[in-house]
Amino acid sequence: MERVTDGVLFIPGQDEFIPDSHTYVVGEPSSQDLSLIDPGLTGKGHYKTESIQKVGIELESIKRIIMTHTHFDHIGCLSEILKQLPWAELWVHTLEAEPLEQGDERAVYGMDMFQSMCQMQYGLKPGDFTFKVNRHLNGGENLEIGGMIWDVIHIPGHSMGGIALYSRSTKILIPGDVIYADYAIGRFDLHGADASELKQSLLRLAELDVDILLPGHNRIVKGLSPDYIIKTAKQWEPYLV
Ligand SMILES: [Zn+2]
Ligand SMILES: [Zn+2]
Repeated sequence: MERVTDGVLFIPGQDEFIPDSHTYVVGEPSSQDLSLIDPGLTGKGHYKTESIQKVGIELESIKRIIMTHTHFDHIGCLSEILKQLPWAELWVHTLEAEPLEQGDERAVYGMDMFQSMCQMQYGLKPGDFTFKVNRHLNGGENLEIGGMIWDVIHIPGHSMGGIALYSRSTKILIPGDVIYADYAIGRFDLHGADASELKQSLLRLAELDVDILLPGHNRIVKGLSPDYIIKTAKQWEPYLV
């Protein structure tokens, strides 16, 4: 657990043979209106909530869970977390919220082979990833939550309903798996992925003034260079057609 700024906590993923997404908790601590971004891999729910409690945050202050996208390594422990936070709302981009509500798990597993592997490994059944979504996001929202303002930006390409959360005042970007540190980007071969949309999404993110990059995996970056995102987009452009 690392305090990135006053209003942002970082709980690193605990990767196994499948990666565990990082979890971020955003909101001013005094607001009692915190949001948990991306729970993580199946089995990691207790690790994530214990990390939160260890720094003195009461789980009661977490009012909602926001998904950057619904891949297995991000949503795997959602039901574990919801058992501990039964009051928490679930906010997901509508393009991934609808499948989630209908029990269509293609966006969760990404490919059939991965689905059977995960179901065997974790004892999961078809339909385990059916959830009621309290708020469908569309992109373009300015969420006033926890004493902060987070812009929602729809960035499809890695997944259909991927979103970034961006705080203009602190220049923090939470882009899910669309862009990582070290000029890496998310894969674009899974269900609902689209290389040219990913390119457009990277170009959209490149317009933002970003100082702190908080991706879904690998290291976080503070003091991001101003041309980092556009350089990454240009480097990958030949592959994103
Ligand atoms: Zn991921
Ligand atoms: Zn992903």
